[in-house]
Amino acid sequence: MNKKYDVIVVGAGPGGVFLAYELIQKKKLKNILLIEQGKKVEDRVCPIEKGGICPKCKPFCNITSGFSGAGAFSDGKLSLYNPDDDEIHIGGDLHRYIGVEETKKLIDYTDKVYLDFGADTQLEGTKFKKEVKEIYNKAKRENITLIDIPIRHLGTEKSHELYGRIEHYLLDNGIEMLFETKVADIIVEDKKVKGVKIKPAKYEQDEEFDDFEEIMADNVVLAVGRKGANWLVNLCNKHEIKTETGIVDIGIRYELPDEIMKDINKYMYEGKFIGRVGPFKDKVRTFCQNPSGFVSTEVYDNDIALVNGHSYKEKKSTNTNLAILVSHRFNYPFNKPIEYGRNVAKNLNELGAGNIVVQRLGDIYRGKRTWEEELKNNKVVPTLKSAVAGDITFALGYRTMTAILEFIRALDKVVEGFANPENLLYGPEIKFYSNQIVIDENFETSIKGLYSIGDGGGMTRGLMMASCSGIQMARILSNKNS
Ligand SMILES: Cc1cc2nc3c(=O)[nH]c(=O)nc-3n(C[C@H](O)[C@H](O)[C@H](O)COP(=O)(O)OP(=O)(O)OC[C@H]3O[C@@H](n4cnc5c(N)ncnc54)[C@H](O)[C@@H]3O)c2cc1C
Repeated sequence: MNKKYDVIVVGAGPGGVFLAYELIQKKKLKNILLIEQGKKVEDRVCPIEKGGICPKCKPFCNITSGFSGAGAFSDGKLSLYNPDDDEIHIGGDLHRYIGVEETKKLIDYTDKVYLDFGADTQLEGTKFKKEVKEIYNKAKRENITLIDIPIRHLGTEKSHELYGRIEHYLLDNGIEMLFETKVADIIVEDKKVKGVKIKPAKYEQDEEFDDFEEIMADNVVLAVGRKGANWLVNLCNKHEIKTETGIVDIGIRYELPDEIMKDINKYMYEGKFIGRVGPFKDKVRTFCQNPSGFVSTEVYDNDIALVNGHSYKEKKSTNTNLAILVSHRFNYPFNKPIEYGRNVAKNLNELGAGNIVVQRLGDIYRGKRTWEEELKNNKVVPTLKSAVAGDITFALGYRTMTAILEFIRALDKVVEGFANPENLLYGPEIKFYSNQIVIDENFETSIKGLYSIGDGGGMTRGLMMASCSGIQMARILSNKNS
């Protein structure tokens, strides 16, 4: 292995992968190393897929780690943009660095790359303008905004195949990749990055290992995703990389019959609703809607079970699931959003004996837990078989819970049946972001040569924008070296 690279990319999620792809197109930088703590995409298998329960795979969860990061098992909904909008509503803050028009161009380009590698050519959410407008107006009356943008749906099984093709393309075009290898630290001299220190991923704790290998590069890009958010916080503290306190999104996964969601599913595939309801006026949003989908679990930081959801192109359930998330920001004297989220998750995991907890909406209104027997006779049958019936309200804070219930109540006026008592809430669903890393318009941190892209540093949220941030990063690095 070469010991000095032009660029080292930490993390092979969509951000890191699209960065490598675009560096190949630009042909300016040749020695590129992608380091990923998880496995190659073809070796990533989740035991739950075979009907099992989550064994909390060690050293890393296959759902969130490995080539293509959290994208491999994701439902693969690529959020595009509405040409009439002069704002970018979905996917984070990339447009704040490069402007709205440039972001739109970048989405077009990145979408084309996805198409070149086999994404479905059909776009969801473009045909039913009149019907969508009616839903938009109904939501507006409840002080909720419906974000109307087209979506390209890859489907979970197709995402896996598509990223497999990209992996081979990168290898065939000279990108070096190290799998099952964790970047433990970066090497910094005089506020300039010089390289990274790596170790085999099987050693979970840095203390268990003292033979770190050093690999040098003048450009190191951190693309570690939400999976690496906690690691990133520690790294920033250690090297005094400038950050701003970030947010944590806490909430639940909501599951209800397709029948209730049929209009939204048909007209938009995914209804993205955002509002500030309830006494606290926190931002509440629906996220990652999966028609005829399945609720799933992922493991965060090796010990926390979180809920998620996805849907296949071919295998179908009769339920739709979606996240309802409340954004929380902390300032003084407590400013540790990740810690807060972890504590909520730990408490709820305890209540479920290490599993995801599921509860009927009606039981929350009645002020009682849900029992296993009641779930068996429930009209909405849970698609996550390992979920344990219980009481989510013991662990989710009053502020979070109130916002979620108010939001469900308001959406019931937009989508009849949305607040039916037999609908299911699963918890915890938490989106961890690192503290927002302070970067300039070239995505450079306060350490020279050290860059941050994707979800990890807080710039993006979602597949499309994380991928776009990788493409843009490659262009920045190529221009710098032209
Ligand atoms: C089940 C599920 C469904 C989803 N569905 C959708 C969807 O439909 N649409 C959508 O837009 N988004 C969806 N998402 C979110 C989407 O997958 C992420 O927004 C996206 O993958 C972020 O890309 P990223 O490159 O920033 O980070 P990630 O994809 O998280 O990749 C980061 C990678 O870095 C690696 N890494 C971290 N730290 C280190 C280290 N120290 N050393 C080496 N490697 C490291 C991790 O193992 C990981 O593979 C879903 C996520 C999940 C889990």
